[in-house]
Amino acid sequence: MAKTVTRKKYDVIVKSEFCKGCHLCIEYCKSGKLVNSKKLNKMGYLYAEPAEDAKCTGCMVCTLVCPDLVIEVYDE
Ligand code: SF4
Ligand code: SF4
Repeated sequence: MAKTVTRKKYDVIVKSEFCKGCHLCIEYCKSGKLVNSKKLNKMGYLYAEPAEDAKCTGCMVCTLVCPDLVIEVYDE
């Protein structure tokens, strides 16, 4: 009998106005879910933002490496 595998979905939120653009999260995200913004935030940094076309695996690495706790990951 075949097993059913359910894959969870995750929602990634970057509080962009607090991001200092160090890009650590982008380097560490193996899924390519985090990318550089094209716009500057109020502090003048190119912030990290979730990519529309990539899937988050919920590994939480980005939340651990972000020095300013700017990223939140939710189980949908
Ligand atoms: S939780 Fe993991 S896969 Fe999802 S955005 Fe963060 S580093 Fe990438
Ligand atoms: S690690 Fe944090 S501060 Fe650095 S780019 Fe990512 S969200 Fe911004």
